Amino acid sequence: MVNYEEIDLKIDREHLWHPYTSTINPLPVYPVEKADGVYIYLKTGEKLIDGMSSWWAAIHGYNNSRLNAAMTRQMQHMSHVMFGGLTHAPAVGLAKRLLKVLPRGLDKIFYSDSGSVAVEVAMKMAIQYQSSRGKTTKTAFMTTRSGYHGDTWNAMSVCDPTTGMHSIFNGRLSVQYFIPAFPMDYDAPIDAAVVANMEREISEKADQIAAFILEPVVQGAGGMRFYNPEYLNILYSLCKKYDILLIFDEIATGFGRTGRYWATNHTNVVPDIMCIGKAITGGYMSFAATITTTQVADTVCAGEAGCFMHGPTFMGNPMACALACESMDILSDMGLEKISTMEKIMREELHNAEKLTSVADVRVLGAIGVIEMKEPVDMAVLQRKFVSTGIWVRPFGRLVYIMPQYIITEEELRTLCRKMIEVIS
Ligand code: PMP
Repeated sequence: MVNYEEIDLKIDREHLWHPYTSTINPLPVYPVEKADGVYIYLKTGEKLIDGMSSWWAAIHGYNNSRLNAAMTRQMQHMSHVMFGGLTHAPAVGLAKRLLKVLPRGLDKIFYSDSGSVAVEVAMKMAIQYQSSRGKTTKTAFMTTRSGYHGDTWNAMSVCDPTTGMHSIFNGRLSVQYFIPAFPMDYDAPIDAAVVANMEREISEKADQIAAFILEPVVQGAGGMRFYNPEYLNILYSLCKKYDILLIFDEIATGFGRTGRYWATNHTNVVPDIMCIGKAITGGYMSFAATITTTQVADTVCAGEAGCFMHGPTFMGNPMACALACESMDILSDMGLEKISTMEKIMREELHNAEKLTSVADVRVLGAIGVIEMKEPVDMAVLQRKFVSTGIWVRPFGRLVYIMPQYIITEEELRTLCRKMIEVIS
């Protein structure tokens, strides 16, 4: 049994690696006693309003009674069985729910363990698809700068080369093609020069490119950048014209985060392949899916291998699928109006940060609020201040941002925003 009374921070500091953290000079970590609703309770007594949803995932809050019940029910049926040769109600139930909300035509679903793996799967699908069609030179990927798609090998190759630190892995990562990131702002007018450059790059490299991969409408970890969805409509036409698959990475943007169910719902585009993850289990456990069209799936399977060459041990894990079913049901009971309300409140509150001389930009879309500073922040110092005022916000670089849980009340959201501004000012 875990001893919940004690968290030995010395063992943590000396033996545990935290995300993007040095072992020589580790950033402080805060021991958590419990998490409930929108609150994280620290061992040291602080009660924090969670502004991060544990990295876009815990959309319905911690210790959610419906998700707890779904997990308990499923555990008593079975925690896991292999997906090779077997199937079960949670996997099929989740497929049913996804088919109801996915863009029409995306109807072949491949479950996997995490967002990065879902991206690997998408990239492998694209290569097998092209190879099946005899397009054996089409093995590279094109993407925009400032993207982020995960930390595994191929996912990393399509992350922004600077923030993704490609230089460290020089000569070992697959070489991909990058075009400039689309200009910032959801409402920015379409720049004809950007479009012309995009067409030139795509047309010149078309015979080498299996797919164009990007995060639709919002680029997350690569800079919390929003851009005009019309670029995606244009990109879609170019991909069709030059025979390139289009992959949307909706791992961060899915399940209502941008105000629509999927970010692709801001466009007319049905991508050829879509990756989803993060909020899929309501933040309870790691799980993801890669979804494609029957045409792509059947072409992949008509090729030399006769099937798609991937099959992780925990594929279709019943507990993850049961949680995902329940999380989607909670979201459908909630409705997306709640996200519009959150957007309105964040616009009103975060707008006040624009007056600060240290602030470069403030932007809000759906349930995402971003304050971009002029200079990079000292994460450890700022984090300590956030904790002492009672909020959990984890900035990076010049970005101080929140993507709160959908269960947050108006009062809690206003408090979160006000305290955030109080600290940065
Ligand atoms: N794609 C995007 C857009 C992401 O934001 C992330 C995670 N931050 C990933 C992929 C990778 O997901 P995971 O961390 O679950 O591997």
